[in-house]
Amino acid sequence: MSKLLIVGTVAFDAIETPFGSTDKILGGAATYIGLSAAHFGVDAGIVSVVGGDFPDTYLKDLNERKVNTDGIAIIPSGKTFFWKGKYHNDLNSRDTLATELNVLADFNPVVPEAYKEAEFLMLGNLDPAVQLSVIEQMKKRPKLVVLDTMNFWMDTTWDTLLEVIEKTDVITINDEEARQLSGEYSLVRAARKIQAMGPAYVVIKKGEHGALLFHQNEVFFAPALPLEEVFDPTGAGDTFAGGFIGHLTKTQDISFDNMKRAVIAGANLASFCVEKFGTTRMETLSPGEVQDRLLQFKLLTQFDIELH
Ligand code: AMP
Repeated sequence: MSKLLIVGTVAFDAIETPFGSTDKILGGAATYIGLSAAHFGVDAGIVSVVGGDFPDTYLKDLNERKVNTDGIAIIPSGKTFFWKGKYHNDLNSRDTLATELNVLADFNPVVPEAYKEAEFLMLGNLDPAVQLSVIEQMKKRPKLVVLDTMNFWMDTTWDTLLEVIEKTDVITINDEEARQLSGEYSLVRAARKIQAMGPAYVVIKKGEHGALLFHQNEVFFAPALPLEEVFDPTGAGDTFAGGFIGHLTKTQDISFDNMKRAVIAGANLASFCVEKFGTTRMETLSPGEVQDRLLQFKLLTQFDIELH
């Protein structure tokens, strides 16, 4: 079975949406990526760090889904990474109200021996210095390195982030971040500039407006499924990334055509994530539901037209 190594935050989140708010619940980029990638039956392991305040049951829940947590360091005297965000009425934009790095501030990641030769590496959102250290610990260069990041790291650790970007094959970021990273308003130009920084493939996520996949001069567009119920978009980007890399790890095929399918797989899983607060929906999601919605995606985008 092919292996997937995931790096990213495992966190406590406090979320406010127009529909309600939560106090510290389970969150974090690696958590969402793991829950999403678990749907592909791949051997996935997480590298991250939590504090002594992190409930053991959360780690057990990941283990039950066959997500290996040996690489999640526990610092008994420390506090887990905490993020607080508030969504605007359109749910497409949010303000970060707090980012407390806590144990992440001086984290030295250790990649478990069993994952040092993983063929797929998902660098989920966290400190670029940690992402870099993980790349350096791999015994051989993975077949595919995918990077996700956000404005927080562009604002605080720009140079290290550029170093990481240079070493990746695919970057997934949202439209606002693509503009910040490239200094270009047009997403086509932004993607071109970002490709020149390293990654041959650029995925730009546009929330409820879908995602664009760029490679050389080709572009593919995946819609987001129009949903009746959107409750909390937290983790949608990470869930998308987990579905994207989960599909690629399972199929072992990194062609552009298969990446198109991977983008759909990611969009499909992300469409569930937003239906309930935090990780709640992902925790109950069944394989049958995933398949049914894939069919809806197909029907949404398929059409026949005669070209003259
Ligand atoms: P998303 O909605 O996909 O952007 O991801 C939200 C998740 O990212 C939340 O569960 C947060 O815990 C986590 N998060 C927020 N800010 C950061 C950050 N600066 N670095 C890493 N993870 C973060």
